[in-house]
Amino acid sequence: MWRCCSFTEDCFDFSGQRKKSGEEETAGSSAAVQSLIMKSTKETVQTAAKEFLQFVNKGVSPYHVVEECKRRLLQAGFIELKETAQWDIAPSSKYFVTRNYSSLIAFAVGGRYQPGNGFSMIGAHTDSPCLRVKPRSKRTKQGCLQVGVECYGGGIWNTWFDRDLTIAGRVMVKSDDKLVHRLVHVPRPLLRIPHLAIHLQRDINDSFGPNKENHLVPILATAVQEKLETGSASNGDAVNATNTAEKHHPALVKVLCSELGVQPEALLDFELCLADTQPGALGGVYEEFIYSPRLDNLHSCYCALQGLLESCLGDSLDTDPNVRMITLYDNEEVGSESAQGAQSNLTELILSRLASSPSNLTAFQQAAPRSFMISADMAHAVHPNYQEKHEENHRPSFHNGPVIKFNSNQRYATTAVTASIVREVATRVSVPLQDVLVRNDSPCGTTIGPILAARLGIPVLDIGAPQLSMHSIREMCCTSSVLQSTTLFKGFFEFFPTVRSMVVVD
Ligand code: ZN
Repeated sequence: MWRCCSFTEDCFDFSGQRKKSGEEETAGSSAAVQSLIMKSTKETVQTAAKEFLQFVNKGVSPYHVVEECKRRLLQAGFIELKETAQWDIAPSSKYFVTRNYSSLIAFAVGGRYQPGNGFSMIGAHTDSPCLRVKPRSKRTKQGCLQVGVECYGGGIWNTWFDRDLTIAGRVMVKSDDKLVHRLVHVPRPLLRIPHLAIHLQRDINDSFGPNKENHLVPILATAVQEKLETGSASNGDAVNATNTAEKHHPALVKVLCSELGVQPEALLDFELCLADTQPGALGGVYEEFIYSPRLDNLHSCYCALQGLLESCLGDSLDTDPNVRMITLYDNEEVGSESAQGAQSNLTELILSRLASSPSNLTAFQQAAPRSFMISADMAHAVHPNYQEKHEENHRPSFHNGPVIKFNSNQRYATTAVTASIVREVATRVSVPLQDVLVRNDSPCGTTIGPILAARLGIPVLDIGAPQLSMHSIREMCCTSSVLQSTTLFKGFFEFFPTVRSMVVVD
């Protein structure tokens, strides 16, 4: 909730100073925005940010993100559905479904929903750039046991050096006559990619870009220590390995097996991400920042989930003609083209199931133009050291609200229509908004927004909280962005059908 306190003395600005009445507003942000920010107590903002930190610290791989979302959804009374089953959907009821255990769609059916009505949707992605253990990872060099890794997505790979890394992901295990997937997350630092000393590369500060194949191989152990511990030292590589255990150093296999409580023969294949062991934290002298891995895009996943859950707490769902839905996809960082990605048929299949009706054969076609998707993904805040990189009139800053992303070349799906709908919602819930557009001489990122707009033919808006260090192993955003995004998303679920009915376009 965006709680507004009624006493000025409880109002802090985010420099931690009490605001004196009649004080001049700071330049660069409107009086209205400033007063909105002032109205949230620092405590409320930080409570929301700390709850997000719990979520992001658990979301060490896309599988763990789905696991944590599932736990929260079950706790809130959502019912798990399987794609393989027939569904019996009831009004005012809440459900979720997973695919590949790395993508998740959760929805709450409005009490007045009938096939042909709209879907109020928020989409985000569960994956983040990371290093992943190769299928044959065993490498040995200079007496060091190393683990071969693959680059997943467009990470800032030099930030992965000198971090205390571990492994997290899922392992396929043969158990009796079943092939089951098990999640694993080793809580202690196991791996490290050491920098080459400055003395051996004097120019590192001029141009630091590692070779992605040669320089990113983490060290697991030394052969000397392994011999002391086990009586024999693993060596060589995995080129002639014939089973899973031989493809990796025995010490790595042993850690996995002891975490999972299985024998090495039971290990089949796995998808293991490297993850920083340092948990996300509040930071800055006034604790106004969040320093954390995977802000892109677990911030959006969390705020979408929280917005949905909070919107179901009151009685607004009972009178809602729409289905409220969050769609969290894997594989956005590598283009979304997978069985569980935003380019897959997942969304369309689910929407068409919910819109299917023997008495109205065009219900799905009628539903699409009545629907809306907020594509939620993080945005670049203006960097104080590189302000020239940002278009001069589009420089989103911390604390000033979620950022609507525009690109008429359709790297983002926002249109004047979708932007005005979300501005109307934001006004109703008193959340400030910012606008961003890249410079004409700058490359532009993209999101699941244009993919889903094209695939489903529904109006989409791209938006995200402002952050710095995007795709670094440790990113940075502001605490207030959690409460602002959650409040906006909750408001979207509650007000979209009303606001949609105001729109006169087609
Ligand atoms: Zn993203």
